[in-house]
Amino acid sequence: MNRDTRTWDALVALAHKRGVEVREKEKAWQMHALYWLGFMWIWNREFFPRYATAAIHIYVPAAWWRTEDGWKTLAHEIVHIDRNKARPVWTFLRYGSPQLLALLGLLGFLGLAWWPFYFLFALVPFFIAPIIPSTGRIDEELHAYAMSVACDNLVFREHGIVVRESTAIGRVDSLLTAGYFWPAGPWKKRIRDGLIADLDQRAALVSVTTSDIYRTIVQVREQ
Ligand SMILES: [Zn+2]
Repeated sequence: MNRDTRTWDALVALAHKRGVEVREKEKAWQMHALYWLGFMWIWNREFFPRYATAAIHIYVPAAWWRTEDGWKTLAHEIVHIDRNKARPVWTFLRYGSPQLLALLGLLGFLGLAWWPFYFLFALVPFFIAPIIPSTGRIDEELHAYAMSVACDNLVFREHGIVVRESTAIGRVDSLLTAGYFWPAGPWKKRIRDGLIADLDQRAALVSVTTSDIYRTIVQVREQ
């Protein structure tokens, strides 16, 4: 068994210990429901082949099964899972805002929400358009991407490559400011600067490398 396969298996086992299953995204009805209800067939048609999703369980595209892309993704998603578990409602609201408010407005319009929320319907375009930055989503992803960066760096070092932090930052930046999560905000420069400051201080990276997720990865890959 090669290193990537072993790392994948170890992270699946780690997820199991947390009561979380790793499932094939394409086969999960929950993911098809999310795709349709989230109107992703309009704005994110690559939802299935290109992105993993953590929603109670972890859904990974079949093509990434037991690969390097796969285990790096699992490491990232387990960070999300842990943060969700620590503060479930709060993390969900932060991650989904401000777009969740649009949903509330829509429910209000249909008479399905408590009346004070009716007026939110008028503001739906503001909540949906990436005008109001989702600081919560940016923050959650920064934590999870610190793990991605740490994993990237680990693999680079295994190949004897000196790590240039900017490579990883470029990748993270394009994901956060592009359409993937629904753009986290309109001010790309601000998001990028925040990201660079965060990773420069290495504070996020240090906290990641002391987690059991990262320790498991290192241990398995040294075997
Ligand atoms: Zn993420």
